[in-house]
Amino acid sequence: MVSITIMMDEFDEFDDFRDRQSTIGVDGSRVWVYPKKPKGKLYNYRKQVSLVLLAVFFVLPFIKVEGDPIILFNFLERKFIIFGVMFYPQDFHLFVLSMIAFIVFVVLFTVVFGRIFCGWICPQTIFMEFVYRQVEYWIEGNNSQQRKLDASPLNFNKFWRKGLKHVIFFLISVVTVFFFLAYIVGIDRVGVIISEGPSANIPGFIGLVIFSLVHYFVFAKLREQVCIIICPYGRLQGVLLDRNSIVVSYDHKRGEPRGKYNPLQDRQAAGKGDCIECGSCVAVCPTGIDIRNGTQLECINCTACIDACNAIMQRIKKPEGLIRYASESSIADHVKLKINSRIIFYSVVLSGLLILIAFLFSIRTEIESTILRQKGTMYQEYDAMHYSNIYMIQVINKTRDPLPVELKLDEPENGVIKMVGNPLVVEKGQLGEAQFLVIIPKAKLHSSNTKVEFKVISDGKEMDEIKSTFVGPDALDREKKD
Ligand code: SF4
Ligand code: SF4
Repeated sequence: MVSITIMMDEFDEFDDFRDRQSTIGVDGSRVWVYPKKPKGKLYNYRKQVSLVLLAVFFVLPFIKVEGDPIILFNFLERKFIIFGVMFYPQDFHLFVLSMIAFIVFVVLFTVVFGRIFCGWICPQTIFMEFVYRQVEYWIEGNNSQQRKLDASPLNFNKFWRKGLKHVIFFLISVVTVFFFLAYIVGIDRVGVIISEGPSANIPGFIGLVIFSLVHYFVFAKLREQVCIIICPYGRLQGVLLDRNSIVVSYDHKRGEPRGKYNPLQDRQAAGKGDCIECGSCVAVCPTGIDIRNGTQLECINCTACIDACNAIMQRIKKPEGLIRYASESSIADHVKLKINSRIIFYSVVLSGLLILIAFLFSIRTEIESTILRQKGTMYQEYDAMHYSNIYMIQVINKTRDPLPVELKLDEPENGVIKMVGNPLVVEKGQLGEAQFLVIIPKAKLHSSNTKVEFKVISDGKEMDEIKSTFVGPDALDREKKD
């Protein structure tokens, strides 16, 4: 757990936050959090960001580029489309490097800006705070009404409110899971699954029910426990953050010593800080912590406490920002953002990775082709003047159109290619293969292994160049034959 140690000696009486998590009672049972609905400038910004991200999530599956989804992560068929660019198993190195670059970016971002991602962009927070929690406020009322309802015995009021809430929660989960599925198999396939009904695809239907139940369980029951206990990113905060990281912080220099508000009292003259112990920052916290205890593992940087405290500061005519985005060193020592060796190291690694990815992307071909001599075959005497070898070509078409494939023998001169069967045309995203003969005049063969060089051509455009060998009789055999 990361904590601002500077406050420890001064405020031992507030120490028990370090003995257990905010949502675990002294007897080890779960403490249910009833956060007050936040209000304020940052909350409004977060709401706008969330609405945009939710709209993107639900609209993207319907957007297509030349008939294909703009985003697809089809793990089952190992087909990936990212912003219209198709990736295949052969591009796995690009995928792995992109993932590594993303992780380094997240680490760098966290070192500098803390856990801002969790509060503003993380799907868990967005769905929890701006979808499920909104339904809960709408049906069960504000946080104290929710608390009362939970404490009350089962009666008609409790029954219908709880029942309706959980039915809506489950329906939202089902819809969300269908949209998640659309990112895997495409929205058209999801439409087919829905229209065909469960009986046409029983395993798929069971999978959807299980995922919907898991999704429902996460938001109806697990909630902030995902951020506190399960999320690996959350668990990593302790090693990623340092005194220079900008996180949601309480300005203890300004706020302490805290004390109740008395409008008739001059707080400065009375030796009191700006914190009036109103508890508003704690009441709105979705993970149930008191940010005045310092940065804690549970804090998802949602900024609800900033809004709550700013509202109080306005009311008592004090400057806003008693709780704000700030680093520990900026509060304790008034040090502005320091570019330390960690930031430089991660920046260099990230830049290197991005350059490498850009380079590999620029040399990425539209087809992936291999040519191998047909297994188990040797050379054939094609006629009195020529030998032949039989080859197999395999082509993966990464473009969006059918790809007619022609082959040209670049070396040796005077060799001829004869396709076996129909000309090769590879459908988009498919693997096509064909056999062909290479026929070379005997006079041009000077050893048993002659280098051959092919050009793979489509619509007059050279797509690839492949080297192979042509097997012929060795010199002794040839002499005997001659
Ligand atoms: S909201 Fe501000 S004034 Fe109120 S307890 Fe929290 S830090 Fe102190
Ligand atoms: S301490 Fe503040 S920023 Fe952190 S989770 Fe609680 S309300 Fe959000």
